[in-house]
Amino acid sequence: KLIVFEGVEGGGKTTQMQRVQVWLQSLTDAPVVMTREPGGTLLGQELRRLLLEYQEEEPIQDRAELLMYAADRAQHIEGFLKPLLYQGTIILCDRYTDSTIAYQGYGRGLDLSLIEQLNQIATQGLESDLTLWLDVDVEIGLARTRARGKIDRMEQANLAFHQRVQQGFQRLAEANPERIIKIDGTLNIDRVTEKIQLILSQKLIE
Ligand code: C5P
Ligand code: MG
Repeated sequence: KLIVFEGVEGGGKTTQMQRVQVWLQSLTDAPVVMTREPGGTLLGQELRRLLLEYQEEEPIQDRAELLMYAADRAQHIEGFLKPLLYQGTIILCDRYTDSTIAYQGYGRGLDLSLIEQLNQIATQGLESDLTLWLDVDVEIGLARTRARGKIDRMEQANLAFHQRVQQGFQRLAEANPERIIKIDGTLNIDRVTEKIQLILSQKLIE
């Protein structure tokens, strides 16, 4: 199973994934593994570093950025996700194809059908079984990440950019009600965990 966590910055994806990993692992014999995009492989870690920390005078062009995320994804799927899924591993993945549609599509304004084609090439059609969208107001989320300290290249982008990204997640959830489930990420941490556990119990352990 491939379970994906999505959403704008500061929605609590990482915290919730760690909790869900421990909880799910206590219920099943199958290994429950956490991973992320970008950065789920060694090559991906290099790409992630470039994507988040690159700050030469020559900016990363939008289409180059798109292709770097796609390269990260292709490496991740072919070299990591597919073999594990084949063995029956349950994967919890921090961001996946919807992030590319939201950030590079809605955020940067790149052509959505181009991005969908590229997602298809990178994933070879591997879709998530379930995507949990941790929805948090953009300003609250950014304030949370800023409170954590170090701010990356993407988080420096202006508020309007992050609001477009948010709108992207909104549209995606509306268009894919079966696959994407929205969870209110402004609730307290324990309530969010409980909600996720309930959804996963219904969807996975039936
Ligand atoms: O989830 P995390 O915050 O670790 O992701 C790293 C960054 O990469 C995020 O700040 C997000 O803005 C950015 N990102 C992106 N496009 C993607 C995936 C992630 O801009 N397709
Ligand atoms: Mg971030």
